[in-house]
Amino acid sequence: MKAMKKIAILGSTGSIGTQTVDILPSIDAEIVALTTNKRISLLEEQARALRPKMVCAMDEAAARELKTRLADTDIRVLSGMDGLIACAAESGADIVVTAVVGMVGLLPTMAAIEAGKDIALANKETLVCAGGLVMRAAREKGVKILPVDSEHSAIFQCVQAAQGNPIEKILLTASGGPFFGRTAGEMRHVTREQALAHPNWNMGAKITIDSATMMNKGLELIEAMWLYDIAPADIEIVVHRESIVHSAVEFADGAVLAQLGIPDMRLPIQYALTYPARVPCKAPRLSLAQTGKLTFFEPDCEAFPALNLAKRAAEQKGDRGAVLNGANEAAVGLFLDGKIGFAEIAERVASALDAIPFQKAASLDDVLAADRAARAHVLG
Ligand code: MG
Repeated sequence: MKAMKKIAILGSTGSIGTQTVDILPSIDAEIVALTTNKRISLLEEQARALRPKMVCAMDEAAARELKTRLADTDIRVLSGMDGLIACAAESGADIVVTAVVGMVGLLPTMAAIEAGKDIALANKETLVCAGGLVMRAAREKGVKILPVDSEHSAIFQCVQAAQGNPIEKILLTASGGPFFGRTAGEMRHVTREQALAHPNWNMGAKITIDSATMMNKGLELIEAMWLYDIAPADIEIVVHRESIVHSAVEFADGAVLAQLGIPDMRLPIQYALTYPARVPCKAPRLSLAQTGKLTFFEPDCEAFPALNLAKRAAEQKGDRGAVLNGANEAAVGLFLDGKIGFAEIAERVASALDAIPFQKAASLDDVLAADRAARAHVLG
């Protein structure tokens, strides 16, 4: 009998993290590490149920409180970035689910790769900021990067069916978010509450805003470019309101393969953890007859300027992904705090890309420097 797969979940109290915990009974797994930013009540509950070797709270005060709460157990309680890196690389995991949000995922993901762990990648910012470095390290260490993002999981599943034939084009589907059909002018008056109400996917606040600006699709284009080693010009973004076709791939003969399903992250999470096996999943089944019709549109790059910003960053490579992402994270933070308007998110990202000189980003330090410069530009 095969040994149980040992899994570390970085960001286990977030949207992807809790859904990962939810599918654990379907797979043969042992949890070795769990982490949170500061949602320690939920982390404590998960830790008591799953008995990992170690846990981490990024926030120092939260970690102290967590340590007190778990004093009657033998679970090690760590804190901060060092703790997050230890959970990724030193917890004895076979595979690390990177479900933290934002740039904070980069260093632990790299540490896990260096330690030879496979990655179930839910943290797209890691590839956006440092895709070249991450994919090279993964190749050198022989570790698998298994995508959890629904679109990239769909592409991955189509690639499995291609028996080594190269993909010629990716059709990256986008729900269009809550503001599909609005003009650039109408987008000026969007409120925080409207932006936080996504029609199809139930997600965390940051990615929900990214979906509303369509920056999420721009980040995913960069993610797909690195994962599948494909030119950005060969990735076509298609707005698909129903979120049933999770993405598609075109081959040399013109055949298009797609993966379909209802919008539920549990399937792509589970597939990343059971690959190449498929096992029953809790997510509801798709009924095409009940769905009725599927619609597809070209994206409106004028109403959603984030798309062109991301395409430009993808083509230029170097540190542009890190600048794009850092500026976007900072601008989304300002928008969520009510300090800037919706349209200003993309404006601030554009301004950062214009103002910060291009660098090659040959090392993680370069990437971190580009990220800091972008945030400082947006906040300053
Ligand atoms: Mg996605």
